[in-house]
Amino acid sequence: MIIVIKQTAMNMYKRIGLGILLFFVFGQFSAVAQTGDTDIHKQISKKTDDIYEQVVEWRRHFHENPELSNREHETAAYIAEYLRSLDMEVDTGIAHTGVVGVLEGGKDGPVVGLRADTDALPVKERTNVPFKSTKTTTYLGEEVGVMHACGHDTHIAMLMGAAKILSDMRDHLRGTVKFIFQPAEEGAPPGEEGGAKLMVKEGVLKNPDVDVIFGQHINSQTEVGKIRYKPKGTMAAADRFVITVKGKQTHGSTPWTGTDPIVTSAKIIEGLQTIISRKTELTKAAAVISVGKIQAGVRNNIIPEEAEMIGTIRTLDTDMQEKIHKEIRHVVTKTAESMGTKAEVEIQEGYPVTYNDPELTQNMVPTLNDVAGSEDVVKMNAITGAEDFSFFQKKVPGFYWFVGGMPKGMDPAEAAPHHTPEFYIEEKGMKLGVKSMATLAFDYMLQNSD
Ligand SMILES: [Zn+2]
Ligand SMILES: [Zn+2]
Repeated sequence: MIIVIKQTAMNMYKRIGLGILLFFVFGQFSAVAQTGDTDIHKQISKKTDDIYEQVVEWRRHFHENPELSNREHETAAYIAEYLRSLDMEVDTGIAHTGVVGVLEGGKDGPVVGLRADTDALPVKERTNVPFKSTKTTTYLGEEVGVMHACGHDTHIAMLMGAAKILSDMRDHLRGTVKFIFQPAEEGAPPGEEGGAKLMVKEGVLKNPDVDVIFGQHINSQTEVGKIRYKPKGTMAAADRFVITVKGKQTHGSTPWTGTDPIVTSAKIIEGLQTIISRKTELTKAAAVISVGKIQAGVRNNIIPEEAEMIGTIRTLDTDMQEKIHKEIRHVVTKTAESMGTKAEVEIQEGYPVTYNDPELTQNMVPTLNDVAGSEDVVKMNAITGAEDFSFFQKKVPGFYWFVGGMPKGMDPAEAAPHHTPEFYIEEKGMKLGVKSMATLAFDYMLQNSD
């Protein structure tokens, strides 16, 4: 009996002890989950200020020396040399010109991937910045100007900045950071593979295996200091289709003696739009089908034998994407059949949906709120443009957001859009990008290690 009482008493003490322990563990954990380690956040912020001028210098270097997709040779060499100087393991030549740096922290924990894309565009720059690009090259047989007209120069510089900060703090890191500098986001030249898809194929997410990946895009129409994000489908899957309609050629004056692929095409185009307006659950997510080119015939009084249409399909949800592809095949073949013609559809899948893992997004937004100030972290609408970061997100949970690069107070409608010769980024916006990358990596490791 005495023994039993003693045991009960001991159990009670144990329970109280466990309670206190649980209070500390979960109390602390929830504090961390909400705001991260604010002291560390301050340190990262200070280190960002210290390195900012260097980040600007890097950005200007890349801006003046842009290289097209799959041709980022000098860009890659520059990045690799810098990462090596930080004493991390560096791998080059992944997906042609990709560079990966692996930074092992002082303690065990998850592997966090941080990604920046590195390619420029065949655009002739028309800004007046002193570090304006005057570079030209040959693209698809034509002499073109080359410009960082999507801001990937800032992405490289921001990630190099984050690499410096995290490598200075490596003893405190609970895990490993993989810095992924990815070529050819804008698309490899015809006939070549490239970009995130090829990096994944070549094993960039393996050895060490990446648990989670973060990526950001500067935005010329979002104010400096602001972050925009969206949980789930953020940017669209972009698929290309080719429709060939075969009829029977005849004289334009006697259509009843043939079958007309042009009138069939007109009906098909209408049918395609009806898939969106009548058969797609638009309150769930948006979707777009656009026919961008139609070609048939040679002169006014011949009904031709064949017509061809090409176009694009944009979806923000993979189930809807599958359903729309099925509907397109159905509408095209049945419409053709009803007109006495035959039609074939080829759908070429491009970039998948850029899909922000909802749980990861929810866990990481508090970090962004602390870094940027919660009033400057805004939820956005989905974008029907596409981004190949989605190939990483197909393999591991990922979070992708936009960081402001537009001068404060400017009207976004006045700011030059991406991919245009006047594209301009206010460099101060990069500070938030550097901080976000470094802090998210740090907080994720803190939340997901013992
Ligand atoms: Zn772009
Ligand atoms: Zn871009």
